[in-house]
Amino acid sequence: MSLSFDNTEIAFRHLNDKDLKHAYRMFWAMNRPVLQKTGSGFTKWAIKLHLPVNSIVKHFIFRQFCGGESLIESIPVIKNMAHYKVFTALDYGVEGKSREADFRNTARVMIRNIEFAHSNEFVPFISCKLTGLVRFALLQKIHDNITLTDTEQKEWDRFYHRFKQICQKAADENTAIFVDAEETWIQKPIDRIVHEMMAIFNKKKAIVFNTVQMYCTDRLEFLRQSIEEAKAKAYIYGIKMVRGAYMDKERERAANMHYPSPIHISKEATDKDYDASIKLCFDQLENVAFCAATHNENSSAYLAKLIEEHQVQLNHPHIYFAQLFGMSDHITYNLAAAGFNAGKYLPYGPVREVMPYLIRRSEENTSVSGQMGRELQLLRTEMMRRKLL
Ligand SMILES: Cc1cc2nc3c(=O)[nH]c(=O)nc-3n(C[C@H](O)[C@H](O)[C@H](O)COP(=O)(O)OP(=O)(O)OC[C@H]3O[C@@H](n4cnc5c(N)ncnc54)[C@H](O)[C@@H]3O)c2cc1C
Repeated sequence: MSLSFDNTEIAFRHLNDKDLKHAYRMFWAMNRPVLQKTGSGFTKWAIKLHLPVNSIVKHFIFRQFCGGESLIESIPVIKNMAHYKVFTALDYGVEGKSREADFRNTARVMIRNIEFAHSNEFVPFISCKLTGLVRFALLQKIHDNITLTDTEQKEWDRFYHRFKQICQKAADENTAIFVDAEETWIQKPIDRIVHEMMAIFNKKKAIVFNTVQMYCTDRLEFLRQSIEEAKAKAYIYGIKMVRGAYMDKERERAANMHYPSPIHISKEATDKDYDASIKLCFDQLENVAFCAATHNENSSAYLAKLIEEHQVQLNHPHIYFAQLFGMSDHITYNLAAAGFNAGKYLPYGPVREVMPYLIRRSEENTSVSGQMGRELQLLRTEMMRRKLL
């Protein structure tokens, strides 16, 4: 195996010259904080005022980070990735809802996505945020151990039934589900219900995956205990490890409410726990199926090296790498070309509905120092190689 993340020819061969130039322009713009801030500020304002910005957004940032406005529109993107052996985790990107009708609709879409995934070899996963299926405030109340009213209990029962139906469908259609991790103050009931579903559906194969945010100081121990519990109950533990997307919000809330921050004090401490979580899972491949969901080159290379050194099958059915669509193609496509299971989270949905996701992408990309520079540098190298610059 000769794995290198520097090979831009492999990294970007799925993009024609026009798409490559578009990606370059997008990252160039996001690399300029003033331009990025003005752009996302204007977009938030325009959306609030119901100005017709959809086509502008769709042409620029949406095209970079989303598959399409519908599943049908996303199919060419999925096929293009599959051509290079890159898998898709289908992510219906609608979020922040609070009405029962919206929850029912999200559940319907997820069932349809599972059916679609079943007929597509390169769509082994769908992803899911439980706050798309149940109210945030209800999760928080359960997290805080507050007794539910009768009406709330019924609401919870409806959600439980809905989520179980989705997991049952996934098991029937042999498709796996990544359940995302969200804010720490709603995470306890998420962990609980996901583990419960694993105990039912992961007996023979990992169908349901939880997510651990390794920027939390307690997650390595939580992961260790969760794996032990899965072993004791004889099911396969499915887990996606991420560093975590809500760091500023978490720290701010802890400071405002005077409780100790749940987040590691440094990036180095997060990185150390992230790689330790990879090693912990790798050492128990019989009992654990896992996905290293990261744009970090060191962590991705670390896992690839473990696989190689221990002579484990490169595309072992219990080991996956994943990045977000539109980001870090040099990791995904080079891993896939080398024979690993590598894929993308592919969000899709109506422009207006995926706006919160897009704004997070552009803000995160500008705030992650170095990342944008790296994307831009790689795109520039490929543009020069193709003599486009
Ligand atoms: C496929 C996929 C699925 C994802 N699913 C989820 C999900 O379910 N839930 C979720 O929360 N996020 C999710 N994310 C986002 C993820 O948590 C990170 O925000 C993002 O991937 C950046 O981390 P990194 O490992 O890619 O890169 P890196 O650039 O190496 O790490 C950046 C991250 O390190 C941490 N960090 C940075 N500075 C510090 C500091 N000073 N102290 C402590 N920690 C620090 C933060 O988590 C920050 O986001 C997902 C990402 C991917 C690729």
